[in-house]
Amino acid sequence: MTTLTKIEQQFKDLLKEQASYHEALALLQWDLRTKAPKKGAEQRAEVIGLLSQKLHQLTTSTEMKNYIDTLKNKTDDPIIQRAVEECEEEYLRSSKIPDDEYKAFITIRSKSESVWEQAREEDNFELLQPYLEELVAYNKKFATYWGATTNKYDALLNLYEPGITTKELDQVFGQVREHLTCLVKQINASTIRPDANALAHHFPKKDQESFSLEILKRMGYDFDAGRLDETVHPFAIGINSNDVRVTTRYDEEDFQMAVFGTIHEGGHALYEQNISSNLTQTPLATGTSMGIHESQSLFWENFIGRSEAFWETHVDLFKEFAPASLHDVKFNDFYQAINEVKPSYIRIEADELTYCLHIMVRYELEKALIDGDLQVKDLPEAWNDKMEAYLGIRPKSNKEGVLQDIHWSAGDFGYFPSYALGYMYAAQLHDQLSKDININEVIATGDFTPIKAWLTKHIHQHGKMKKPLELITDVTGKSLDASYLVNYLTDKYTHIYEL
Ligand code: ZN
Repeated sequence: MTTLTKIEQQFKDLLKEQASYHEALALLQWDLRTKAPKKGAEQRAEVIGLLSQKLHQLTTSTEMKNYIDTLKNKTDDPIIQRAVEECEEEYLRSSKIPDDEYKAFITIRSKSESVWEQAREEDNFELLQPYLEELVAYNKKFATYWGATTNKYDALLNLYEPGITTKELDQVFGQVREHLTCLVKQINASTIRPDANALAHHFPKKDQESFSLEILKRMGYDFDAGRLDETVHPFAIGINSNDVRVTTRYDEEDFQMAVFGTIHEGGHALYEQNISSNLTQTPLATGTSMGIHESQSLFWENFIGRSEAFWETHVDLFKEFAPASLHDVKFNDFYQAINEVKPSYIRIEADELTYCLHIMVRYELEKALIDGDLQVKDLPEAWNDKMEAYLGIRPKSNKEGVLQDIHWSAGDFGYFPSYALGYMYAAQLHDQLSKDININEVIATGDFTPIKAWLTKHIHQHGKMKKPLELITDVTGKSLDASYLVNYLTDKYTHIYEL
């Protein structure tokens, strides 16, 4: 065994150790969010804290630094090379922040999260304001440590969507915003009025669950490598690629919550389940970015799940589980109802068309906060102004305005754009997929294997081997292009609303 091969093996052992901590942490998190009894939460938080600290120590250890220096650009193994690059980014990011500052940030962040709950409950922004001010200040400082000079926001964006810049986002978001605000105005003026209430029938939870399980199966979700549970906030979590779990939420008066929620989380789970086994127990065995991950969930939820072809094929299956009162809803009314466009205050309740506008509001505000163009105290007013400008509605309280999301209170700035990028990536991938296979024909068979296989070949298997823009360019022959999303939404909603 040559010296280099020996070092590669030792490096792989260290990666395995890291991956084991990740796996233990993910399982503890899943348990905490699904099954754990209330009284166990306090000690569990302590254990999670301790294990996270151990993981952090491995990430920033001298041993890790030595492997990075020895192996970077010297190994012939492409997986090791990418893993080294990933570890180096993580090492630099973590080691550049002084320990005491990072600890202070973590402390203020956990306080801020609980203050946020109270502030939202009491509709009292002033309560949260001092915490947000500190969190913004820390984010600016960290961005400077990471080398940002003029554009600090770019450094934060890079945490979630490597390679994407503010300049690029301004361009694509600007294009989408212009078309969407115009479409929303046209839709408001249309005489076609889809009625989501037509679907508000009592639908027992156990039947919704049976239907959701059946849909997951058809998507190709592997139940021998996963499970479905119930939580208030649905999520998907990869323990490892042979154990990827999803949760959903049931509302007996609104089946859409569970059905589309399950399809969404199922899309995330398919990504994690189908990462190449060659990447197992390395930092590359996960989705390449938040945006690409979201593209997978949104692809299934909207491009497949809310399509006419999907419901034409699944109407009989739906009737097997749905209450008799829903059997009488005419197909067109049903299809229109699940695609109703209705500007709303709350992001997570937004429809497919207006959702991106909610993201634009947040993107522009957080960028202004980090750039220093906006003060935290002026945030509520600025929020309401943007909501009015883009969605035509003005929140009457901060609870349905600036206080609705936890992200900023959790210290996360630069995260929101990933949601809208996910839509754009999904539309671009959908366009390419339609060129490669006849999607509607596949949907009509009720067996989605060819779609899943296409996604696995082009996206899933690569894990973090490719960066987001590299992945999109390799699959579609073009870098990120907002026209695909604009065209998809324009075509779909022009048809539904007869514009
Ligand atoms: Zn998602």
